[in-house]
Amino acid sequence: MQGSDVNAHDDDRRHATRIFEAATWGYAVKVTCRCRRTCTFEAHGLWWRFKRKGWSDDFRDAVRCLYCRSCTERTGRKVRPTLMETTNEPPHIRLPLPDEREWKRAVSRNRG
Ligand SMILES: [Zn+2]
Repeated sequence: MQGSDVNAHDDDRRHATRIFEAATWGYAVKVTCRCRRTCTFEAHGLWWRFKRKGWSDDFRDAVRCLYCRSCTERTGRKVRPTLMETTNEPPHIRLPLPDEREWKRAVSRNRG
């Protein structure tokens, strides 16, 4: 297993659709609410949280597992964010990381 098996697509900004991909490609994951509040997560830790919960890490599914704290406090109901995307911004939320064996297992499962 060499580290240089990157796809030869010409655009250098690959479009991640899953938390796992964001983590692999070195992006953080940014979640945006309708109130314009944003949260930026470190992707490996976020992936691991979802993995342990058995949740899908597809962005479209993953937003349904999160909610905006300020909207929720204001309305008394859980308000889902509207958007999840990758970002180059430094994450301000760092969840516990997967141990290295778990991460490597996931990487080899998702290869090719
Ligand atoms: Zn909100």
